[in-house]
Amino acid sequence: MIYYSTNNGAKPVDFKTAVIEGQPADKGLYFPSDIPKLEKDFLRKDDSISREELAFRILQPYIGSAIPEVRLQEIISHTLSFDFPLVQITHSIWSLELFHGPTLAFKDVGAKFMSSCLGYFVKEIQKRVVVLVATSGDTGGAVANGFYDVEGIEVVILYPEGKVSEVQELQLVTPGKNITAIAINGSFDDCQQMVKQAFTDPGLNAKMLLTSANSINVARWLPQQLYYFFAYQQWPTNEAPIFSVPSGNFGNLCAGILAYSSGLPVKQFIAACNANKVVPDFLETERFEPRPYVSTLSNAMDVGNPSNFIRILEIFDHNLPELKKMLVSYSITDDETKAAIKFAHDRYGYLLDPHGAVAFASLQKYQQQVSDSKGIFFETAHPVKFYDTVRSITNKEIDMPASVKGLFSKQRSGLKMEKNFASLKDLLLTER
Ligand SMILES: *Cc1c(COP(=O)(O)O)cnc(C)c1O
Repeated sequence: MIYYSTNNGAKPVDFKTAVIEGQPADKGLYFPSDIPKLEKDFLRKDDSISREELAFRILQPYIGSAIPEVRLQEIISHTLSFDFPLVQITHSIWSLELFHGPTLAFKDVGAKFMSSCLGYFVKEIQKRVVVLVATSGDTGGAVANGFYDVEGIEVVILYPEGKVSEVQELQLVTPGKNITAIAINGSFDDCQQMVKQAFTDPGLNAKMLLTSANSINVARWLPQQLYYFFAYQQWPTNEAPIFSVPSGNFGNLCAGILAYSSGLPVKQFIAACNANKVVPDFLETERFEPRPYVSTLSNAMDVGNPSNFIRILEIFDHNLPELKKMLVSYSITDDETKAAIKFAHDRYGYLLDPHGAVAFASLQKYQQQVSDSKGIFFETAHPVKFYDTVRSITNKEIDMPASVKGLFSKQRSGLKMEKNFASLKDLLLTER
């Protein structure tokens, strides 16, 4: 498979180069030159095809000869080490639970897949390979877990001190080994600024291959298609489902639209957003206007310039009328988010986290307009990750999964640093 840049200013590359580079030099995004079409029999909803086999058949064309088939099969089984259950909540609403992975966030799949691919490619790279990321919470945990102990790769994660939840911080500072977590005395924006400066620093780039693990990397983006196929395999009716997806940087939703272009039956996509509503506004005004993000309860979706949206436009060949037939979008306020958490708990005994709640509320809004429609929303994080918020709304204790309980007794190995690029550069130049 060949990947071209959405800005058309960089030369096309194969999967391997797209993964190692992350982003093309012209600052576009890598996009597959051809979207494979699936055979009909393949989507039968029975047990004749295993999850792993389904995943292999979907992903293999995107990887081509960059990874041998046997190795790819191993990477897929390693990535899919947990369940993705579809749970019925009301007579017309189902939850696809994507939080059963090691860090209880849906980003676990993308992070594991990417780390395994990079771990395979790294053997042929002569320089030190350092993955550098800034995180406001969920990304860092998934990356730390996904890359833990991957041979030949060092990981450095910056996060704003005091601004991530306790569980999130533990997920960063307890792995140790090849994972270095640094609490920066500053904001998330300060962390991002330091990371950006590192990527353009000639001194650093001469010494090491610095790469990012953010959601624009094709190896993090592409495997997210699998959620939609797994949902469909468990979908109990014959109608095509509606998918309501809690969206921030739009990687997840964009992967769903890719699955649909390959032949997955879908009736409607809903982009479920919080107060950060660049995309809901775009679908109304047809003007894409990035702006500074605002903070909300669903903080993993606090994004003011959703970078993956360009890939959605690319799938639809920038044909807005066609796009608008398949995609609607809602902006949900924090009050509506809280109301959804309370409603789902009091009425149906189901605990939502703030991100899933935005998707649940969006699906309800859609169903008020289109009666008799059945849909799936994605529950992207375990409610325990947002313990204080969910607890104060529902008055209910939340059971801690064993993986979280264990974190409290582990040794912590995090570092602290001022928001100062020179200190980061010194640290990166020191081999660990
Ligand atoms: C990252 C994240 C999202 C948003 O996903 P995008 O692919 O960036 O749109 C939603 N929910 C949770 C819990 C997340 O961590």
